[in-house]
Amino acid sequence: MASHYIGRFAPSPSGPLHLGSLVAALGSFLDARANNGRWLVRIEDIDPPREMPGADSAILRTLDAFGLHWDGEIRYQSQCHAAYDARLAALAARQQSYRCGCTRKQLKAQGLHSRKDCQTPPEGQPAALRFKNDAPVYRFTDRRLGAVEVGQTLAAEDFIIHRKDGLYAYQLAVVSDDIDQGVTHVVRGLDLLDATVWQLGLYNALGASHCHYLHLPLVLGDDGQKLSKQNHADPINDKAPLPALKQAMAYLGLKARDDSSVDALLSDAITQWSWLDDSQPAQA
Ligand code: GLU
Repeated sequence: MASHYIGRFAPSPSGPLHLGSLVAALGSFLDARANNGRWLVRIEDIDPPREMPGADSAILRTLDAFGLHWDGEIRYQSQCHAAYDARLAALAARQQSYRCGCTRKQLKAQGLHSRKDCQTPPEGQPAALRFKNDAPVYRFTDRRLGAVEVGQTLAAEDFIIHRKDGLYAYQLAVVSDDIDQGVTHVVRGLDLLDATVWQLGLYNALGASHCHYLHLPLVLGDDGQKLSKQNHADPINDKAPLPALKQAMAYLGLKARDDSSVDALLSDAITQWSWLDDSQPAQA
């Protein structure tokens, strides 16, 4: 069992939680509790155009109703801009980033971004910042999936760390916060598997030690697509949490043996959680 464990759930407030995000919240909570760890909640509000007013409080109310009680203060990414600027400055000082003025149209024509064809706009003009991905990470060890290998071209892309519209990119913010909050274990949905190799590259560039990763199965809708807030997946019902909690447990392969209350279900789920962790951090 890990001797030092800090986990987190990091929802974007683009809408209320749906069954898919409940599975991610529950999986990360159970893993933290089963490993005697701390469980933090971070609201990833770095993309105002995609956010829904009030979604942050709705998410926190839902977590409470489902007995998913977090440790410490909630962190809001909108309060962490100084830390992101410092990380951008550190990368620039190590010449690990560069300005890119490629338009959407150019990028579409190229498929993936190509450093060779990149258009550098004149100083003072809006530009995205890209990570100079000179030592790409192609594989890592996932606690559930074992060795994970990611497509070479994608893994080696110079991904964006600061957007042309001035917003911080998810990859930069998530790594910066996970480092600053001392997160040791990341448990999240399979949709972020590819992002993990980019994030590991950023840890390396920033000289920080890696987390352990566990990617959970995704909940798919009737159309076979991942449930998402953008697809307007049904919000879960806070008033009657037992059915959705049992459903979320079933997705995680857990039996609902004592469904007399939310707390009874959760404490039994903790005893059933089998991903006790004594593994090494993620990178090969
Ligand atoms: N904010 C991201 C999302 O809601 C998750 C970030 C993460 O777990 O790394 O999809």
